[in-house]
Amino acid sequence: MRNPLFDTLFGIHAGKDTPFLHLANGTVISHRAFLEQAARMAHATAEAGLKPGDRVAVQVEKSPEALALYAACAQAGLVFLPLNTGYTAQELDYFVENSGAALVICDSAKKDTLAPIAGRLGAQVETLDRDGTGTLMDRARDMPADFPTAERQAEDLAALLYTSGTTGRSKGAMLTQHNLLSNADTLARYWHFSATDVLLHALPIFHTHGLFVATNIILATGGSMIFLPKFDLDQIIEHLPRATTMMGVPTFYTRLLSDSRFTRDLAKGMRLFISGSAPLLSETHVQFEDRTGHKILERYGMTETNMNTSNPYDGERRAGTVGFPLPGVELKITDPESGQTLPAGEIGQIEVRGENVFKGYWQMPEKTAAELRDDGFFITGDLGRQDADGYVHIIGRNKDLIISGGYNIYPKEIEELLDAQDGVLESAVIGVPHPDFGETVLGVIVPSGDTPPDEAAIMAAVTQSLARFKHPRRLVMLDELPRNTMGKVQKNMLRERYADMFT
Ligand code: ATP
Ligand code: MG
Repeated sequence: MRNPLFDTLFGIHAGKDTPFLHLANGTVISHRAFLEQAARMAHATAEAGLKPGDRVAVQVEKSPEALALYAACAQAGLVFLPLNTGYTAQELDYFVENSGAALVICDSAKKDTLAPIAGRLGAQVETLDRDGTGTLMDRARDMPADFPTAERQAEDLAALLYTSGTTGRSKGAMLTQHNLLSNADTLARYWHFSATDVLLHALPIFHTHGLFVATNIILATGGSMIFLPKFDLDQIIEHLPRATTMMGVPTFYTRLLSDSRFTRDLAKGMRLFISGSAPLLSETHVQFEDRTGHKILERYGMTETNMNTSNPYDGERRAGTVGFPLPGVELKITDPESGQTLPAGEIGQIEVRGENVFKGYWQMPEKTAAELRDDGFFITGDLGRQDADGYVHIIGRNKDLIISGGYNIYPKEIEELLDAQDGVLESAVIGVPHPDFGETVLGVIVPSGDTPPDEAAIMAAVTQSLARFKHPRRLVMLDELPRNTMGKVQKNMLRERYADMFT
């Protein structure tokens, strides 16, 4: 094969008039039209002097053209580097410098602030706007609609995907063609995707979930996507009856449940709802089933590995768990200190190995050495346990573990108890510095209604259920928890905010 990624995902659809993208305005983009667009864009990058292996940093709004850029990079052998649209110019400086990108593609509104940064770092700049116009498209317009696919190997880099930066500075994960292809193939089979599927796509395409999990599976199986710019309740409700599957972060599902138009009838043509990127509350899983008859299928993955575990398609989808290791993925639970595998059922760090696991962090040899073992196991940074039936439970991030007076405290256990109290919508439990205990427990609560919940009643419930060392020393109320665009709670921001509470 000349270029496994391009040939397997895109090349197989060349010349086909089958639908690939259904847009909100009713326009349908065929595989043929999409690939012709991609070929023109590949020519534009070649004309700009880019060579296979060069990095292309892309910070643009979601559009069919933005997705075609992924195909163009695959065809031209370039390393695709998508970036969160929320990042500021200062943040972009880090990504462009760290990656050594040869080309930065941005929204025209950002060009003036980015051009000096790119200029200083020796990168070219082109623009692509949400309406599909821009200097890149001007360059591409009159180019031929076919492109001689660059030769690449399965072990060559396909993408440099930066982690979400939930626990610290984002790291560039080096993903090979084979990392992406093997996972897409595994997931497509595990979740029974086929050419008849229509995926409702409202996720961003700068993150592994919307880009690789969703798009690669659909490309690998020949299905189509209802490709929406973002999660908009009205749009989702309008398009859901024409979809067969949906992938979302947990907030997509809580927002759907909050709308009375979301009914069993509306979801009757669906065969599968998938959730990931952040924990789905058991309560949401149960409410969703009551409302629609569907059990949301929760899976677990990350930038560095694509997907690692999933609840089964046919078997029991167990609420509050992320299911079993996927075929071809080995998973073990180890002692963070010694690295030894722990006895069954104990909580420890989750390590994974498989063809899906990345090659290391771009230009961060020390971080790579610290997290990727010589034998191929990747230390995910998450804590978890496997129950007697083999289901994996995510307990939280290793970095969020609270150590108070020498005791290990897992925030999730306390959060589940707080969440279950009257008047509590959700909570986050963090460790904050304390002069006597090193760290102590702080409970941050988001009230569900206008009247704040009864703190004394909550503390009474805590006292009854939890050992004293786990009791939150104080509860604070917030209107909402700080979340990044992927719906992940940013506990480091909470820790900073309340760092001085007891000191
Ligand atoms: P950074 O590594 O920069 O701190 P991040 O880990 O949030 O950021 P991602 O790779 O986008 O960056 O997210 C992967 C993480 O998301 C996992 O390590 C895990 O903590 C969390 N996650 C993903 N799916 C689930 C899930 N189903 N349940 C709970 N957590 C999940
Ligand atoms: Mg991470």
